Amino acid sequence: MHNRNISVAIIGAGASGTILAYQIMEKASQRSDSGVKVYLIEKDGDHGPGLAYKTPLSAHILNMRADTLGVLNGDPLDFVRWLKGHDDVSKASWGDLNYPPRNVYGRYLDTVLDLAVKKAALGSSSIELITGEAVDIDKNGRAFSVKMSDGGVINANSVILAPGNFPGAFLSELNGTKGYFPYPWPVSEIIENIPMDQPVCIMGAGLSAIDTLITLLENGHREKITFLSRNGLLPKVQGAAFDYQLKYVNKETIDRFLSESDKNSISFDLVKRLYMDEMEAAAGNKINWLDIFNPQESATRILEKDISRAEAGVISYQAALTASGPLTGYIWNSMSIDDRMRFDREYKTVWAVYRHPMPVINAKKILNTLKSGQLDIQQGRTSVKAGSKGGFEIDVITRLGVPFVLKTPYIINATGQEIDVTKFESKLIKRLINKGLIIAHPNGGIFVDFCTSCVKEKSGKDIHGLYALGEITRGVHFFTNGIVPNMVSSGRIADAILA
Ligand SMILES: Cc1cc2nc3c(=O)[nH]c(=O)nc-3n(C[C@H](O)[C@H](O)[C@H](O)COP(=O)(O)OP(=O)(O)OC[C@H]3O[C@@H](n4cnc5c(N)ncnc54)[C@H](O)[C@@H]3O)c2cc1C
Repeated sequence: MHNRNISVAIIGAGASGTILAYQIMEKASQRSDSGVKVYLIEKDGDHGPGLAYKTPLSAHILNMRADTLGVLNGDPLDFVRWLKGHDDVSKASWGDLNYPPRNVYGRYLDTVLDLAVKKAALGSSSIELITGEAVDIDKNGRAFSVKMSDGGVINANSVILAPGNFPGAFLSELNGTKGYFPYPWPVSEIIENIPMDQPVCIMGAGLSAIDTLITLLENGHREKITFLSRNGLLPKVQGAAFDYQLKYVNKETIDRFLSESDKNSISFDLVKRLYMDEMEAAAGNKINWLDIFNPQESATRILEKDISRAEAGVISYQAALTASGPLTGYIWNSMSIDDRMRFDREYKTVWAVYRHPMPVINAKKILNTLKSGQLDIQQGRTSVKAGSKGGFEIDVITRLGVPFVLKTPYIINATGQEIDVTKFESKLIKRLINKGLIIAHPNGGIFVDFCTSCVKEKSGKDIHGLYALGEITRGVHFFTNGIVPNMVSSGRIADAILA
């Protein structure tokens, strides 16, 4: 055993912070390191599941297949093994064993944390679970003091910012208005405050909007529900898993173009071309790209076709996009900041529609609700006015330029998470920005080193010992809204801390 006397404060004990704590202890035990002290700080007091995996509703299912989400020993199948060993998890009620309820994954994360605590004790290390909000960090030479809202201070050699997801600032002018819900979480806010016999408008049509629809349906909602989004596109539907060999979107090709570039970056146009070539190679035929970017059929018709395709088996373009997943951060980081901005402006939504498809079981729920007439999907640009007698009037101008007014007593904002850190509702993040310890990245999150996730100061130099993990690194890592990429980043942070 080598006594290392390492102390680490992890701020945020959602999936990311929890997996990092586990990986630190696993790697410490592999290296026979002892004396590693981890403080795992969580303001909600519920260490482990975080926002996504503590929903009480079992109808909120994983969007990714269970056999990709194992944490222990870096084995993707570990979660499935855990499921098989848990007879108390009521699998009978699940529609599809590949997509368990997210709160079951939350229980698995609890197990990961328990194991991490035990592993630590075996190696004369420790994990201390701290309940409270971190509100500031002072840097003292090569050490840090984390200040807590109750006045407490935690001293550590390394600090990791893993604060997770924050509500989007879109429509924040309505915050506090009766009938307006700025975020679909926690679901109790919606279940307790929206009557079942009133119409509801859900802003957005992506995975968050679908979770919100499911919240309302599970609560027995009877009245009309409208999805309102800029393009009205639902996520595609997931086909069967398939190992695809990339032909165009691969590291060798990216590196070759990088070496030929005098700016040491590749253009978004090149990346777009590589992806289009890859999709066509996967499909084995030319693709009608106009139809991808601007589909003309109704949402119901598109969804019917998407469900049939998914039920028929492998969807080749999905297999290709999944295969490119581990490389997307590298590609993103190889483009200029301006090109990344262009992607966000012009392609972010359509990327999300195709790259993050929904499980068939959710697609069928939406289709049934559309067919029964309870759900309506509207697309268009909007401005929202709160009426003087309550309720809202939403001016909608569709993409065809047709204006209409949507009246609704309730709006739920499900347009997704905020990526601009200057808009995060977090005392800690605001203070760190103000004192210049973290710098907002124009593509979201903060500046960190691509390989180690070490936070960078304004000059571009690493701040030794300060790291960031999860959505807060979006500008650098791009794919930060999934267990798998955050697990890869936390492994690298654990290596850097124990080096
Ligand atoms: C609704 C939803 C569903 C998702 N479904 C999937 C899925 O099926 N599969 C998948 O791979 N990914 C999914 N994701 C992506 C998901 O974001 C990641 O998988 C992961 O859960 C993110 O974990 P996190 O720890 O980074 O963030 P969070 O879960 O948000 O956890 C961050 C934690 O930090 C705490 N915190 C923040 N600030 C402080 C502070 N100052 N002091 C103390 N504590 C603080 C918060 O209370 C919170 O508990 C989903 C995301 C959402 C939002």
